[in-house]
Amino acid sequence: MNILDFTRDFPDEQSCEEYLKSHREREGVYCKTCSSYTNHYWFGTKKCFECSKCRRRTSLKAGTVMESSNLSLHTWFAAFLLMSATKKGFSCMEFQRQLGLKKYVTAFRLMHKIRSVMGKRDSAYMLKGMVEYDEAYVEKAIDGELKKQLKRGKGSQRQAIVAVAAESTPLEDKNTGGISRHCGFFKMKVIQDASASSVDGFVKETINKESVIFTDKNQAYVNLEKLVESHVKVKSSAKTTNGELNWVHTAISNLKKNLLGIYHMVTEKYLQNYLDEFVYKLNRRYFGEKLFDRLIIAAIQHYV
Ligand SMILES: [Zn+2]
Repeated sequence: MNILDFTRDFPDEQSCEEYLKSHREREGVYCKTCSSYTNHYWFGTKKCFECSKCRRRTSLKAGTVMESSNLSLHTWFAAFLLMSATKKGFSCMEFQRQLGLKKYVTAFRLMHKIRSVMGKRDSAYMLKGMVEYDEAYVEKAIDGELKKQLKRGKGSQRQAIVAVAAESTPLEDKNTGGISRHCGFFKMKVIQDASASSVDGFVKETINKESVIFTDKNQAYVNLEKLVESHVKVKSSAKTTNGELNWVHTAISNLKKNLLGIYHMVTEKYLQNYLDEFVYKLNRRYFGEKLFDRLIIAAIQHYV
């Protein structure tokens, strides 16, 4: 959806309400008292659903990410548009200005709630097939005084460690016999340290057991062959960077550019949310203008 479509389809609060109502009716409305999806009637004057069994009322926003928010649906919908409008994303200041929000903190919370929806949506999917794995070291925002006490360099306390995995299928060119790699879905997660147990935890959580995993020869990857069908260790070199580990390295370099370009530095507390937005968009890179519709659907889903 582009800005012209948006102003046509969602000119006011009422149009957003109608969209949300019909979407929720299609999906089914969850009753917290009955602990199930039950038949609901629409209570027009109160703008809420009523359970046909127990009469409990459920508001339009209840059970979605918008529950307990004082912002209008129109503001939420415009926020979904902005969050899906660009590949790179908005800074919080820009976002606040575009939506005309009075307080920075409102914009900040709104962006992070939408990012959490993105993360939740992607967490349901496990990577499969051939999967590349590596870690990214991301410089984090640290208080000035504390920063002086911490060492510099890779793996120092100034950096957060992000586990990165990418589905990557090798394709042979029939004419030249050369191999190119086609990438599928990606995953990124902040891990506590680069130890074997942290890497194992990430792999168990995100990569299907029947997969083949490609990594460099790091010692921390000692258990991976037990967790997946096969573990292929490749020597770290310029060749593997463009070959077996091409897509994780491309994603890591784009991530760093993205974080530096828009947010400058990110505190560790919120880093996972930024990763969720980055990966959500990366995984839907061919969706184009449909990204808005998909994001609204994800946001309306039952949210706990
Ligand atoms: Zn009920």
